[in-house]
Amino acid sequence: MHITKLSGVGTKRADALAAAGITTVADLLNYFPRDYDDRSHVKTIAELTPDAVNTLRGIVAREPENADLRRKGGSGFFTITKVIIKDHTGTLELTWFNQPYLKKYFKKGSEYIFTGKVKLLTFGGGSAETRMQIQSPDYEQAGDVELSGGRIVPLYTPPKQYTQKTFRALIHQALEISNENPEAFFEFLPAKIRKKLDLCGRKEAVKNIHFPVSDDWFMAARRRLVFEELFFMQLTLSSMKGVIAAQPGFPFFNTDYTPFLKELPFTLTHGQSNVLHDIADDIRSGSRMNRLIQGDVGSGKTVVAMAAAYIAMTNGYQAAIMAPTDVLANQHYIACTQFFQPLGFETVLLTGALGAKARREALAKIHDGRASMIVGTHALIQPSVIYHHLGLCITDEQHRFGVNQRLTLTQKGGNSKTPHTLVMTATPIPRTLGLILYGDLDISIIDELPPGRQEIKTYCVDSSYRPRLHEFIRKETTQARQVYIICPAIEENLESTSKSELQNVLNYTQELSTGLPEIKIAYLHGKMKSAEKESIMSAFKGGETQVLVSTTVIEVGVHVENATLMIIENAERFGLSQLHQLRGRVGRGAAQSYCVMITDSKNTQTKSRMKAMTQTTDGFKLAELDLEQRGAGDFFGTRQHGLPSFTIANLYRDMDILKEAQDAVQKLSGITQEEKAAIKQRIKEVTYSAELACM
Ligand code: ADP
Ligand code: MG
Repeated sequence: MHITKLSGVGTKRADALAAAGITTVADLLNYFPRDYDDRSHVKTIAELTPDAVNTLRGIVAREPENADLRRKGGSGFFTITKVIIKDHTGTLELTWFNQPYLKKYFKKGSEYIFTGKVKLLTFGGGSAETRMQIQSPDYEQAGDVELSGGRIVPLYTPPKQYTQKTFRALIHQALEISNENPEAFFEFLPAKIRKKLDLCGRKEAVKNIHFPVSDDWFMAARRRLVFEELFFMQLTLSSMKGVIAAQPGFPFFNTDYTPFLKELPFTLTHGQSNVLHDIADDIRSGSRMNRLIQGDVGSGKTVVAMAAAYIAMTNGYQAAIMAPTDVLANQHYIACTQFFQPLGFETVLLTGALGAKARREALAKIHDGRASMIVGTHALIQPSVIYHHLGLCITDEQHRFGVNQRLTLTQKGGNSKTPHTLVMTATPIPRTLGLILYGDLDISIIDELPPGRQEIKTYCVDSSYRPRLHEFIRKETTQARQVYIICPAIEENLESTSKSELQNVLNYTQELSTGLPEIKIAYLHGKMKSAEKESIMSAFKGGETQVLVSTTVIEVGVHVENATLMIIENAERFGLSQLHQLRGRVGRGAAQSYCVMITDSKNTQTKSRMKAMTQTTDGFKLAELDLEQRGAGDFFGTRQHGLPSFTIANLYRDMDILKEAQDAVQKLSGITQEEKAAIKQRIKEVTYSAELACM
């Protein structure tokens, strides 16, 4: 039913509603409150609590009065409307500011319901008399339909042209008009599931999400609607997964990677071996591999990816690795060249930073197949890049890429078959959330670090410790160890109005060089030219520089075994997952490593973050905490991760319901034809399927 069928909705309001995505009565029903105000406890005048918000009923005791008062400075008047109400326990004064029409609205002898903050006013001097008053309370006529008091009251984000009050009334009207219409609350969850999980019907759920009759009913309504939302999302994802699994992949007949392992200077951990088995099983099968490797920083994902690339290459296919930064792409390029050259496979690098000639050469080698291993940034997915026969796509640090970028690389196979896909992430995503984010992927986890690593000792200090840290830096560097220092800014921001100056790379480097003249210091930031970044990184790797002052460009993937001290300035600026990533740059060799976070922040959230960092080095635990503190949206920083947006579900709070939904999807059987049809219909309707379709 169209929205204009409702009373009070003219063209202006209809337009405003349409702008908020509401064109039908059904849309209104699905426009859920953003919060609630519990006004169910109605007090008498004698029971009122001063300085608190109270809800009460009262009868207007005498004719309301308007008083016109001259404004300060004399520019015109304003009006105070005064209404005296009573109940069997006393009387109370209510006032409104500049709403003269209220004088006519309130009728002497009629009963109303009010909500507002009770103030205690003092009159007179020494023997002061006090009197209670409520200024500008929310009001409504008492009667059969009370929407704004005496109940749990919904708070919406009202569209333009509406106030909380008028929008609440509109929603109520929509519910009333839908009451007798069975289509309005069409039940599309199978009865079996509802019974098993004790979920209330759709009609009760929708009514109680708007106007809960009690706390219990609200909880029941919310649970049902969250379940519904997550259930359909899971259903969509699992059907996508089915589609991908059915796609043929290049079967790699030779999956013997022992020659590769023989060349390694170490043996794989159990975690790595298991993941490699998963991969080999996938790519042998004839279907397309679509797998996510999740492993904490330093768990050794690169070597697993290289083993997979080795298999692809020995089967006569090309393999590509896409990394999010130039620095990381370079690092992979060097590692692959060193490793694969002796085995007879050529590696080429392709980044946006290549000169025209080098780029032409790289493209030619990729095209004619001389290049077996291709390493690069998102330059790899540009249209001009044509692969000879790409059999495996690897995306490193997947969380830095959008889902679409991952898919574009996959589509570079160039013929009817799509390459196998391996994505790696070091951002430890809580497992359940991983299932949602990467629901179309199979997941393998590397759950251990290579042997011999020592726990990184982590401290949090304030800036008064900085001089002592200089001593620490000196001590580490005289033992031929290396140090990272992270600053949030590149240069001094002269326009900055904030009181707390951010440490910046340029000034910091200068000051440090003055303080520690004997130490070789370099700096790095994202605005530098790629070639410059490369040479600075390789000088640091080679031990020519001892201290690297940097922005977070080195956050992901960079590997320098000899670095043992990580100092993070303005640590309050970083989220837990990011701090953990930064800390992961040290502790990569056998020597004891340290991470020192510097902050002067007194903020309790910051303090609890710092405390968590000093107490655990378990990336998964930290990720859970991060998610809890910041919510799923901020956790991933941007919306590009393909995380669907939800109407009502909250991915952190509703993990339990998510598990139930997953379970229900997996065991979905024994339902009637009509129920199946209803589900299919609903999948088409739900908004997130459009978002997911591009995954
Ligand atoms: P990440 O998982 O963070 O990408 P890397 O792949 O960069 O970790 O590996 C970190 C370091 O650990 C590398 O120097 C790598 O050579 C080393 N490494 C990987 N696997 C093992 C292993 N099984 N035993 C010893 N060292 C290993
Ligand atoms: Mg890595």
